[in-house]
Amino acid sequence: MHPLEALLIEREWLLADGAMGTNLFDLGLTGGACGERWNVDHPAKIASVHQGMAAAGADIILTNTFGANRYRLALHGLGHRVLEINESGAGIARRVSDAASRTVVVAGSMGPTGDVLAPLGERTRTEAIEAFAEQAEGLRRGGVDVAWIETMYAENELEAAILAVGEVGLPFLATMTFDTGGRTMMGIRPRDLPNLAPCKAHRPLGIGANCGVGPAQLLDSILGIRATAERETIIVAKSNCGLPRMGPDMQVRYDGTPELMAAYACMARDAGARIIGGCCGTTASHLGAMRDALERRPRAAVPDHAAIEARLGPLTVTAGTEAAVAHAKEDTPPPGRRRRRPA
Ligand SMILES: [Zn+2]
Repeated sequence: MHPLEALLIEREWLLADGAMGTNLFDLGLTGGACGERWNVDHPAKIASVHQGMAAAGADIILTNTFGANRYRLALHGLGHRVLEINESGAGIARRVSDAASRTVVVAGSMGPTGDVLAPLGERTRTEAIEAFAEQAEGLRRGGVDVAWIETMYAENELEAAILAVGEVGLPFLATMTFDTGGRTMMGIRPRDLPNLAPCKAHRPLGIGANCGVGPAQLLDSILGIRATAERETIIVAKSNCGLPRMGPDMQVRYDGTPELMAAYACMARDAGARIIGGCCGTTASHLGAMRDALERRPRAAVPDHAAIEARLGPLTVTAGTEAAVAHAKEDTPPPGRRRRRPA
């Protein structure tokens, strides 16, 4: 059995890791530089981020390969080094996992190409599939357990990535970013995600939301996904650590405290997420607080938007919470007309 599926049978929730990019800035990466290049030039620094996340309780670590496709690497003159950079990145995470005393799943991060696909943009479907397949092949060679397709915003690009990991033979999870009035940049709503054709056709190990506009809004996305997902669907929540603020050094910082992320983690579990982690700004200390809270705090009711706003801050849109409430009403027969449960 796949190690991720085995863990999901054993445990109620799994903790995915925190940020890579923003943690590399703290280790000296400068704005505009290529963080994925560090897989080759500074592997010990990448390993230290993974080790910190694993020590804080991560069950899943994501490789430092988010932008390691040929089109994004080409912006740094590295378009010809895709296999090497992905294989190195996967190998670093693999070694951290192999040295751990418990199961730590290695997930190969794959972000968007950075280009809009035809017909709206120039990049063709075939080019996108080839680029993702090349990246996935590097990740496979480096020893990832699973591909983690993330921060997607368009159905056609999501499909290209899913077809590519299938070509290479990697199981996968897929998350989208709902950061534009409760939709992805291309207008997909959280409640649309479970029924997108590529998700229906290719059996992801998990689907969900990552990045975006803070923990409150991400929870609304989780509720939206849950409203239309099949009961057995594994839902993934990976929120940014609060909201971005421009620091005095002109670097973006995230304002979430460990306490806020701990509250978010428990509410994500209560909302139905089985895999919970942090995105931009989430450090090992945030992750440790999340693990601790998930272990100690008992499960609570599915949060409504009043509860989300009280703990995590204001929501800009509440499409997901409203969908979840509507769904719960459809699901609950009126009093006196209870459906008989199968024996
Ligand atoms: Zn993020």
